[in-house]
Amino acid sequence: MSALIFFLVFAGFILLMEIVAWITHKYVMHGWLWSLHRSHHEPREGAFEKNDWFAVLFAVPSMILMYFGVHGYPLAMAAGLGILGYGLIYFFFHDILVHRRIDFGLRPKKGYLARIVQAHRLHHAVESKDGCVSFGFIFPPSPKHLKTLLKAKEAAVLRAPDSESFSAHAP
Ligand SMILES: [Zn+2]
Ligand SMILES: [Zn+2]
Repeated sequence: MSALIFFLVFAGFILLMEIVAWITHKYVMHGWLWSLHRSHHEPREGAFEKNDWFAVLFAVPSMILMYFGVHGYPLAMAAGLGILGYGLIYFFFHDILVHRRIDFGLRPKKGYLARIVQAHRLHHAVESKDGCVSFGFIFPPSPKHLKTLLKAKEAAVLRAPDSESFSAHAP
């Protein structure tokens, strides 16, 4: 097997994980597993938050693939390393660059890294399950586009108040 195919599978899994992470964040974390993800939209007490369980969860397929990788399936190793690679990129962008859980003093002012930080800050502009924007990481939309989206979502909520607050005013 050529090194090129190994690399293509590795890079392909990094891209695939961005899609998986986007879907998981939008529909699972801000969906039926909001109970775990909510901790990330609230101030953290201590070094860890319930949301960190997602990192543990994503490490499982990576480890299984690498197990098969060392037992005769080199492409499984490429896939496992791709998931690990994405995890490391995510950890660097999300936990170090944006949330500064380890503060190396990195404060990007312009360019790609600054855009990553702005896009995820705008994800945290809404600290609730619904109404959030920007669920991915390595392809950050422009802050201008995200702000327009946020405004549109806000307006939609104002137009359609949830049934609880509505019934509170009912006789
Ligand atoms: Zn979120
Ligand atoms: Zn975050």
